[in-house]
Amino acid sequence: MSSAVVVSSENLDGQQQSSSTPASPAAEKVNLLGMSRAQLEKFFEDIGEKKFRAGQVMKWIHQYFVTDFAEMTNISGKLRAKLEQICEIKAPEVVHRHYSKDGTRKWVFRVGEGAGSLVETVLIPAEDKTGLRKTLCISSQVGCALDCSFCSTGKQGFQRDLTPDEIIGQLWMANYSYMEEVPVADRERSVTNVVMMGMGEPLLNYDAVLSSMQIMLDDFAYGMSKRRVTLSTSGVVPKIDQLAQDIDVALAISLHAPNDELRNELVPINKKYPLAQLIAACQRYIAKDGNESTRKHVTIEYVMLEGVNDQPEHAQQMIKLLKNLPSKINLIPFNPFPHAPYGRSSRNRIISFQKTLSDAGFVCTIRQTRGDDIDAACGQLVGQVADRTRRAEQWQKKVTQRQEILRTQG
Ligand code: SAH
Ligand code: SF4
Repeated sequence: MSSAVVVSSENLDGQQQSSSTPASPAAEKVNLLGMSRAQLEKFFEDIGEKKFRAGQVMKWIHQYFVTDFAEMTNISGKLRAKLEQICEIKAPEVVHRHYSKDGTRKWVFRVGEGAGSLVETVLIPAEDKTGLRKTLCISSQVGCALDCSFCSTGKQGFQRDLTPDEIIGQLWMANYSYMEEVPVADRERSVTNVVMMGMGEPLLNYDAVLSSMQIMLDDFAYGMSKRRVTLSTSGVVPKIDQLAQDIDVALAISLHAPNDELRNELVPINKKYPLAQLIAACQRYIAKDGNESTRKHVTIEYVMLEGVNDQPEHAQQMIKLLKNLPSKINLIPFNPFPHAPYGRSSRNRIISFQKTLSDAGFVCTIRQTRGDDIDAACGQLVGQVADRTRRAEQWQKKVTQRQEILRTQG
């Protein structure tokens, strides 16, 4: 097998490549960027090499941001030549990048043909007691099938899952953006935190997201602390249980409503997995903790929609709903987008909602909006998409009705 690599679909879970790839120049090369250590070890064994090469190559890719095998100096010339022939290290194509005055950075990646084949990644820096934090908000799908009524991604509909190299490629690119001018030997990883809160529902692209998060945690790659990798879900209950078995990362739940009636409207997957099931799954996730603190709590995300879910009775319902779930609540001021049927709750309204929850003993924070000058608010990516459905219009009617009811109730 000197000039051919045979890669079974089994060992390349979720990767896009042909199953038998003759190493002619025209053949599609195997992209190593999105392979977990286990996959890379299998790959090296399959091409007749020692599996420890996997760790070496991973370090070059994810710690030194090298894409050219010629620069991998601890690998023999012969093996480098072989690798060059059959594989590549390729991040998704950046079609747009924007670096904001406040340090926020945004990338738009092309992940296919056609106007809609774009995904976004945002990096948000912040100072905290541990120093400078750089949090990267990563996308997992092109569009999203779940159609939450306040979400611009949902309005695009679902196009496709991202592959592992497209997911980890976002982290790779963000790190590389700080190291481009730095000599290879001096390069470092800059991104300190990852939140799977970009476009898409990560638990509906489970295998690719899981192997990407394994690369994030792997000491041969990004070596991130499990507390600093957060997966956000709108509540795909069976997959929350699976996640608990497969990996130890922080969990965030997009709650957004404290009762089933309202949540069915805002987060339609609630009709399939209602609140009682969701809260129970969160409790199981925390209970699964065999060791330390990653799973002491879940983060509850709650977008503040004026006149919709921001009333005192909603805060009271939250208190009841979450009373047996160790949680930290993050109130998110709604980010408007074109044709959005909602408004952002006023600052006072958000603060008084926060106070009710804090007084009841919850840790409750308000998310800072950042990167406004580059339209880079997390959770509202590719903001300028056309509403391809008539859903926004229908929602607008419902919201107007609800606001009218609230007004007449005084
Ligand atoms: N699909 C996953 C992760 C992506 S959305 C999820 O729903 O959790 C990431 C977060 O941004 C979610 O909490 C989502 O509800 C929130 N979000 C979506 N649209 C938003 C908007 N217009 N304003 C504020 N937050 C929004
Ligand atoms: Fe999908 Fe999350 Fe947007 Fe809902 S909020 S439509 S689950 S990306």
